[in-house]
Amino acid sequence: LDASGENFSPEEFDIERALRPLSFDDFAGQDQVLENLQVFVKAANLRDEALDHTLFHGPPGLGKTTLAHILANELNAGIKVTSGPVLDKPGDLAGLLTNLDERDVLFIDEIHRLSPVIEEYLYSAMEDFKIDIMIESGPNARSVQINLNPFTLVGATTRSGLLTAPMRARFGISSRLQYYTTELLSDIIQRSAHILNVPITMEAAIEIAGRSRGTPRIANALLRRVRDFAQIKGNGKIDIEISKYGLKALNVDAHGLDEMDNKILTTIIEKFKGGPVGITTLSTAVSESAETIEEVYEPFLIQQGFIVRTPRGREVTEAAYRHLGKTRHNPQGG
Ligand code: ADP
Repeated sequence: LDASGENFSPEEFDIERALRPLSFDDFAGQDQVLENLQVFVKAANLRDEALDHTLFHGPPGLGKTTLAHILANELNAGIKVTSGPVLDKPGDLAGLLTNLDERDVLFIDEIHRLSPVIEEYLYSAMEDFKIDIMIESGPNARSVQINLNPFTLVGATTRSGLLTAPMRARFGISSRLQYYTTELLSDIIQRSAHILNVPITMEAAIEIAGRSRGTPRIANALLRRVRDFAQIKGNGKIDIEISKYGLKALNVDAHGLDEMDNKILTTIIEKFKGGPVGITTLSTAVSESAETIEEVYEPFLIQQGFIVRTPRGREVTEAAYRHLGKTRHNPQGG
């Protein structure tokens, strides 16, 4: 599993869909975000208007796609789903937009990866619910304006820093999702276990939750793997013993850190004497872009107290040394 927890087979995508909450009530955590969205949706429903365009940002697997679907459900509207890299022809965008019913949601995942041409088209669609498309070609080519039904664009991005300013400005609602506490994740795991029809003890749910990198998608993925162990190596019930056994067999880190998390910590310790090290230097050393480190990996490492940001760069903490079983060498040579 990597930080996104996304490496699984097509059948497992179906399971993931089955575990996806469908309404505000099923969605755990992100209280502030949810509270606001509930107000905005109620208001839009009351006025029979489309909800303002909404942007969700935050690390992978925290519920951005889930919230887009929930918004459509709560608006009693339809949803069309696409993503930045997929949407590369203006014709495809026009097709999607002209097929939206009034108040529908158009969900664009990885919206920071839209091409500039597509972005241009989206601006007028978002602002005036109109698009200009070229019909025919050669000497007969002309541009026609098409009116669209009022719709809501819901964008999701792990890298809000890469979104262009004009794009960002067109979202009336913008919410950042946070990592989940172990307590919330254990609630999510128990709900998922119930849907998967597998008995689980509270203790086991907490154990799996604590190793899920603050991420519901990873929590659900680990639950499914531990369920396999429980069925093949145990008695079908997920208890603390089989959870520990399974998590060990899966090589899951005690804190749920993934390979890149550990690489970042190890590199700061081994190559930079624990830091401080600048983000650009670190990025080169671990071969990962500075933006990804800052927006995907670092927030979790900071939240867990493994890294601190100082004016001179990133430093690892005692906890990081302990976690990796390394001893800190006194920089003064002591
Ligand atoms: P993102 O779009 O941010 O990468 P997703 O919305 O695809 O994340 O969420 C990944 C999975 O995690 C979903 O299938 C859903 O089952 C689960 N999930 C996410 N957020 C929650 C939540 N708040 N409560 C319960 N399950 C959640």
